[in-house]
Amino acid sequence: MMNNIAEQLAVAYQKLAKNCEQRPDSSVAVQLIAVSKTQPSAAIETAYRAGQRHFGENYPQELASKAITLTHLPELTWHFIGPLQSNKTRLVAEHANWVHSIDRLKIAQRLSEQRPAGLPDLQVLLQINISNEAAKSGIAAVEMLALAAAVNALPRLQLKGLMAIPAPGEQQKLAEDFAAMQQLSMQLQKHYPNASELSMGMSDDWPLALSYGATMIRLGTAIFGARNYDKHE
Ligand SMILES: *Cc1c(COP(=O)(O)O)cnc(C)c1O
Repeated sequence: MMNNIAEQLAVAYQKLAKNCEQRPDSSVAVQLIAVSKTQPSAAIETAYRAGQRHFGENYPQELASKAITLTHLPELTWHFIGPLQSNKTRLVAEHANWVHSIDRLKIAQRLSEQRPAGLPDLQVLLQINISNEAAKSGIAAVEMLALAAAVNALPRLQLKGLMAIPAPGEQQKLAEDFAAMQQLSMQLQKHYPNASELSMGMSDDWPLALSYGATMIRLGTAIFGARNYDKHE
């Protein structure tokens, strides 16, 4: 499995390059984030040695312990992409470079207060519950500008854009959700020109997400293979 990581990364980057050529805005760089939740630190190190720099994690404790284990990899960039409870914000403030899952002002305020003085500002995205799923994280689209204004006013955070995890389903519905995210992103950028990142697309749907303007895609299975949830901390 581990030997395949470099190969799977190479395949993903090839596909990404091909897909990017077809975009109308092919000048926009797309960041591939390798989602390493439940995978051992050794797998992350293997991907790093193959040139990968951006990694995504879902659980604060797991992110913190991997970050500590891998401090010898200087360019490693951590994206926290999971649901965040207020009693776990400190771990994320101390170890993440990016947080994609801001869905409450309280969480942003705590990250702002807890960001260590010696580190650069935390880069943050607002998570939108674009499929309006009852039990899912994220704010409603109508709440976006109010939360953006409040987050933008906080020190130590930089508002960089939006993130979404559309409900899995038919292509048509998925395309509508990605299109709605693209519209929201354009609306946000009218007010905050630097908030141009759009984090959407996973192993199964990223080419479609790219065609609706995704600037960050989050690939787990496609890079590392299947996850074993029993083993995560
Ligand atoms: C796990 C996860 C991913 C990666 O999912 P794959 O289908 O394995 O690519 C991407 N984004 C989020 C928010 C996740 O939790």
